[in-house]
Amino acid sequence: SQIKEVEFVKSSGRAKDCPKDDRPEFAILGRSNVGKSSLINALVRKKEVALTSKKPAGKTQLINHFLVNKSWYIVDLPGYGFARAPDAARTDWSSFTKGYFLNRETLVAALLLIDASVPPQRIDLDCANWLGRNNIPMTFVFTKCDKMKASKGKRPDENIRDFQELIRENYRQHPPWIMTSSVTGLGRDELLLHMSQLRNY
Ligand code: GDP
Repeated sequence: SQIKEVEFVKSSGRAKDCPKDDRPEFAILGRSNVGKSSLINALVRKKEVALTSKKPAGKTQLINHFLVNKSWYIVDLPGYGFARAPDAARTDWSSFTKGYFLNRETLVAALLLIDASVPPQRIDLDCANWLGRNNIPMTFVFTKCDKMKASKGKRPDENIRDFQELIRENYRQHPPWIMTSSVTGLGRDELLLHMSQLRNY
């Protein structure tokens, strides 16, 4: 299940422009700053790959396809919820991201990244619920699980439990979830194995 080779294929502005072959793919998404670039780099184990290029807020956002081991794709979707934007802008999840999820037949699962170092965030719950309502297969990937609690804050495992609790009523079957840290490498092999199992399912 290891990643031996990663190759950038293309950036697409619309779901229709995504690669047309039928290789399976995983879409990675989450709030900006959730640790997406760090996680992708940890999975790939190449710092210089820099799969995600930092895009300033408001710039055109793109769906980026990366071909792994010449056989499946990692798809980097734009981050949502820029921390300093007003509420209205934060929840405006672009229609093309929705279009991607509703139309992409080769999608195996969405990997929804959630920062375990902070309490459950409305925008992440909204995103998870939207995916759930639309029957998009999904795995919760909790990031920053190494982070020690701030003086008043909760521990990552407590934040995760709270998140799962809030999401529970919306799912008949709770999505699979994995704890990760790009600092310690926690969850890396588990996530790679999980993806290979889903691909071969
Ligand atoms: P992105 O905007 O989602 O691509 O997030 P980045 O990967 O750029 O990470 C955002 C910030 O969180 C950076 O300061 C990272 O160093 C930090 N970060 C990312 N992953 C982890 C992690 O697993 N543990 C800790 N402690 N910090 C992390």
